[in-house]
Amino acid sequence: MINENLLKVLQEQLNKEFYSAYLYLSMSAYFSDKGLLGFANWMRVQAQEESVHAKLLYDYLINRNERVVLTAIEAPPSHWESTLKVMEASLEHEIKVTESINTIVTIAEEFKDRPTITLMYWFVGEQVEEEASVKKVIDALNFIGEDKSAMFLLDQELAKRAFNPPSSPPSVATGN
Ligand code: MG
Repeated sequence: MINENLLKVLQEQLNKEFYSAYLYLSMSAYFSDKGLLGFANWMRVQAQEESVHAKLLYDYLINRNERVVLTAIEAPPSHWESTLKVMEASLEHEIKVTESINTIVTIAEEFKDRPTITLMYWFVGEQVEEEASVKKVIDALNFIGEDKSAMFLLDQELAKRAFNPPSSPPSVATGN
């Protein structure tokens, strides 16, 4: 049994991961509309990764014999002022997710729930990666400024990103 307070934040985190997928899919749609198909691809891959995060939490709760309760996913924004603003909003969102993961770690440690601590440490590492990959695109955009041909090349670069499921998912979630 997972402590009630800890279970509550884990269920909330499941919703947050689904919201992240929803947000990044909305950002991808925005880029598609602007003809930035590489950016659209990059965000779509990002959304797929978030679905994996949600699935890991979902499977983890089932592995712990807990009842998964799905709740309404908030509607994400659909418009941003610029490409840079989208990426900045994405980083801001990831920073909030990192805070929420850290809070869960603290609560899990309080209740000495070692499987949850193990799972959340995987997420802690994942968050460092998430923030770094968004930051890389922001840095490139700031470097490029208004240079349209450089923007074209960056878009082509981001088109190359392919979705790869996590190579070593946390065993507490997969049951393997
Ligand atoms: Mg995530």
